[in-house]
Amino acid sequence: MPSDLVIVYHRQPYEEVVENGKTVFKENKSPNGIVPTLKGFFGRVDKGSWVAWKLATDTSNPGFERVVEMEDSYGKYSVSRLPLTEAQVKSFYHVTSKEAFWPILHSFKEKYNYDPVDWPTFREVNWAFAEAAAAEAAEGAVVWVHDYNLWLVPGYLRKLRPDVRISFFHHTPFPSADMFNVLPWRREIVESLLSCDAVGFHIPRYAANFVGVAESLFDIETGPREPVNPDFIKEYVALSDRKVAKSVTYMGRKTQVIASPVGVDVDYIEGKANQEDTGIRAREIREEMGDGAMILSVGRTDYTKGGADQLLSFERILDENPDLHGNVRLLHVSVSANRNMTVYEGIQNEIEATVGRINGRFGSFDWTPVTLMSRAIPFDDLVAYYRACDVAWITPLADGMNLVAKEFVACRSDLRGALVLSEFAGAAVEMGSAVMANPFSHRSMDRALLQALNMSEEEQSDRMRDMRETIRKYDIRHWAEDQMAGFAGKNGAF
Ligand code: UDP
Repeated sequence: MPSDLVIVYHRQPYEEVVENGKTVFKENKSPNGIVPTLKGFFGRVDKGSWVAWKLATDTSNPGFERVVEMEDSYGKYSVSRLPLTEAQVKSFYHVTSKEAFWPILHSFKEKYNYDPVDWPTFREVNWAFAEAAAAEAAEGAVVWVHDYNLWLVPGYLRKLRPDVRISFFHHTPFPSADMFNVLPWRREIVESLLSCDAVGFHIPRYAANFVGVAESLFDIETGPREPVNPDFIKEYVALSDRKVAKSVTYMGRKTQVIASPVGVDVDYIEGKANQEDTGIRAREIREEMGDGAMILSVGRTDYTKGGADQLLSFERILDENPDLHGNVRLLHVSVSANRNMTVYEGIQNEIEATVGRINGRFGSFDWTPVTLMSRAIPFDDLVAYYRACDVAWITPLADGMNLVAKEFVACRSDLRGALVLSEFAGAAVEMGSAVMANPFSHRSMDRALLQALNMSEEEQSDRMRDMRETIRKYDIRHWAEDQMAGFAGKNGAF
């Protein structure tokens, strides 16, 4: 049966594990994260499909089925799994997506490193995704494509299936034309995006950048976005004092450019944070950490996340404030996911060396200034860390949204704790009551952390109340509704 909604996302919507020699699909237990959120959309349609890839040389299951019918707590849906070889995955994902697109999207021109020999593989893989989506989609269906590693899918799909409605969401920042146009294939990518009915971003600034890039490359006409959800737009414009979004018309096709921030499931996270066992675990963490204020920093080991800059700031602060010695502890969670890539290995080594230096310079028998954790903390446990800390220190150099900041706030129904947030995290647009830091300025970084450490309980609760109101308003359901409104059209299914 063809599907009314086809989600095209490179990751599979479940965990696939081998048990007793048999492959089984395991539903993600926690509803936290983007995959469960996307699966939630299947509840709104008669039939949904998901398109992902699967390693073709998977020795545990060499002859895997291309399309599997799934039924889990999100209902029935089918999953198309594109067989990609290891070489294709390396070229399409690790090289083109991570070495060419990722640095440019996050405005790190100097990290751009690319051999054009990989471009045909990128096209080939995107074409396979487009073909699979075309095979699944019902007449007039919505095909929702996610993220930059599938940038060429909309253009190919439009050729294969002119009848479908295509929406594309970026989970990253989107840079200005001077940065984006470093990509030699800029015209091909933007032309593909302009064959969508809607192109979505987290915040208005990224949407405006996209319009600017399109204007720099093509003869386009811009107009206001057709208001599908005027109240949301009004509120959101007020938050960011920027024009939200526009429509862009190119070659007779109008594309809505939408800004809509991904939120978190506040009720779920708050429920977890308020459970008795979370409270017990939070107290244990405090005991393990020892006396003094606890600062928590959580992120992937990636040059965009600013982990090394944070450690240097912490070192400066300890240098200049001897009264803090013994009275403050930093738990630096830097999850290394890409050990096989030189650029990530370099940043990991830098972080490890800096932590070693700080602990060597300042630590004593009963005080370790920095504890470094490189393994991911399971979400259920992370909630206890959010609850245990005094300061959440989240200062990426560039970050599409940053859900960690929102999750921390969702956990703090006790209205305690301070959030230090980078101006360059998408979340900063909504979270004006955080202590803002500019991670490119030493002064700003050091001051913001000291301000958070010295914040009165009254100020903590005022700021926290304000941020909690915002994240509740723009929670994950709000994003879902806004996306649905963006799809509104022809057959009224959405
Ligand atoms: N996360 C986790 N354990 C960790 C570190 C992170 O479960 O040790 C989760 C965190 O709860 C959040 C996600 O990973 O949901 C990170 O999302 P974010 O938007 O902050 O950053 P991204 O890694 O997507 O750039």
